[in-house]
Amino acid sequence: MSDGYRQLLEATIQHLEGLKARGIRHIPVEPTTLRALAQPPPKTVAPQKAMAPPKPPGNPATVPATPVPTAPSPVPSPTHPPQAAAEKAAAMAALRERALACTRCPHLVTARTNVVFGVGNINAQLLFVGEAPGADEDQQGEPFVGAAGQLLTKIISATGLSRADVYIANILKCRPDTPGQTAGNRKPTPAEMATCIPYLHEQIDLIRPQVIVALGATAVEGLLGKTAGISKLRGHWQTYRGTPLMPTYHPAYLLRNQAMSEKRNVWEDLLQVMEKLALPISEKQRNYFLKV
Ligand code: SF4
Repeated sequence: MSDGYRQLLEATIQHLEGLKARGIRHIPVEPTTLRALAQPPPKTVAPQKAMAPPKPPGNPATVPATPVPTAPSPVPSPTHPPQAAAEKAAAMAALRERALACTRCPHLVTARTNVVFGVGNINAQLLFVGEAPGADEDQQGEPFVGAAGQLLTKIISATGLSRADVYIANILKCRPDTPGQTAGNRKPTPAEMATCIPYLHEQIDLIRPQVIVALGATAVEGLLGKTAGISKLRGHWQTYRGTPLMPTYHPAYLLRNQAMSEKRNVWEDLLQVMEKLALPISEKQRNYFLKV
């Protein structure tokens, strides 16, 4: 086993042990990743062996009894996906470890219970970005697990996907402190967002989603620097470093405003996302939250 492969393996095991320590017992894994993990580890190969001649075509009887030496091929060419998948998982695990140990915002470090890094499929086509952890997220170390998170889970389910299919992260990884208050949340300051956003940039660079959904004005501000009202921006495609980005309302807004028209607005934004991802859309789905 090569040193590089061993390092990747150790980083992956370390990451899984960290998840286990936090009580996470199941993680989403794509079938392609499982197949990749079933492959034997690559061996170090002398260059001349890697230049094996092609097998002669035609009658098998003409094939020499002694196998022609070939380079071990634990990964399908040309993109070497298993190695790439392992490297990606290791890179995300390393990024997570850096974020979990981060102390760039001392006032948030003293107030936080957990750093809320992000959760989901690191190969997801769809990335949801919110604002910052609330009290529930801070306690559990996972984004969108409170009331707004449960609504987000329902919205994702309505598209035919699950939380395990997508990736969910926030602009800020630590809960904005609220000194003197026992409850409530506050919006991250521009300085806090600027300090933390490099982690999200790195996450997006690793995941490389096909579409990003920015949940609420703060997510749009953090990713695009745009401070126009979310009611103006929502429903209109934006671009984050070449990736299509759909701004929509934060689920917390829908909890405060139960109007059917606002639910429909968010749903229409999600329908655009589904179309962009070429997800199947039934007639029933198209008509969600329409008045009858
Ligand atoms: S908010 Fe981000 S930058 Fe600040 S301490 Fe937490 S992880 Fe570090």
